[in-house]
Amino acid sequence: MNETFSLYRLQQLDSQRIQRLKRIKQIDQIIASDKAVQKAQAIVQRATDALTESDNDLENLRKKVEEKVLKLKLTQAKLFGGKISATKELQDLQAESEALRRTIKTLEDEQMKLMEINDSCQDAKKTAESDLQRLLNQKASENSLLLGEREKLKSQLPRINSQRDALKNQFDEKLLEEYEALFKSKGGVAVAEIFDGSCKACGVELSPTDIQHASNPKVIMKCKSCGRILYKI
Ligand SMILES: [Zn+2]
Repeated sequence: MNETFSLYRLQQLDSQRIQRLKRIKQIDQIIASDKAVQKAQAIVQRATDALTESDNDLENLRKKVEEKVLKLKLTQAKLFGGKISATKELQDLQAESEALRRTIKTLEDEQMKLMEINDSCQDAKKTAESDLQRLLNQKASENSLLLGEREKLKSQLPRINSQRDALKNQFDEKLLEEYEALFKSKGGVAVAEIFDGSCKACGVELSPTDIQHASNPKVIMKCKSCGRILYKI
């Protein structure tokens, strides 16, 4: 196998892969960072929070009413149970019943108000959600070009990945490790083409001997300046 050529080919596949992944990420960021969408999402969140708070208020009030109604029932049972005959005690129970009725009435009035608030919270949430959905639909068509590009890039990845995996299997482990270490430390470019007598990655001029060595498929020649593996096209 022509190792230098295979390394160069692996470099090409890796570059294609990384370019696509970068662009996909960029497109995702463009779509996610849309200010109008973020604003609409925040409005939905606030409306949801307000509704949850209103639901809790209503539930607490419902429990209070329930408690007072139960207390009234007990007082009434005592009052009409026939076991108490002392006038003073009966009068007290009567007064307590009246007081409880008044409290219940006040709580129920409050409940009506809270229900109205709850209704408007529900309406606000529905409106905010449909506004967001409308905006998302609008953005989807605006972003259809970007999404189309994203889709295309994504569909190219499996082929690149499988070619890359197949190629990687051909290398001996040590050489592959060397390539990967260079790839990491040299900003994603482990193999540099020789272009016009120079290393295309760092621009240093190469001696004719270096170029001759680099042209030999059996020799792994590295740039003396940047350390990348050189490839003569
Ligand atoms: Zn170089």
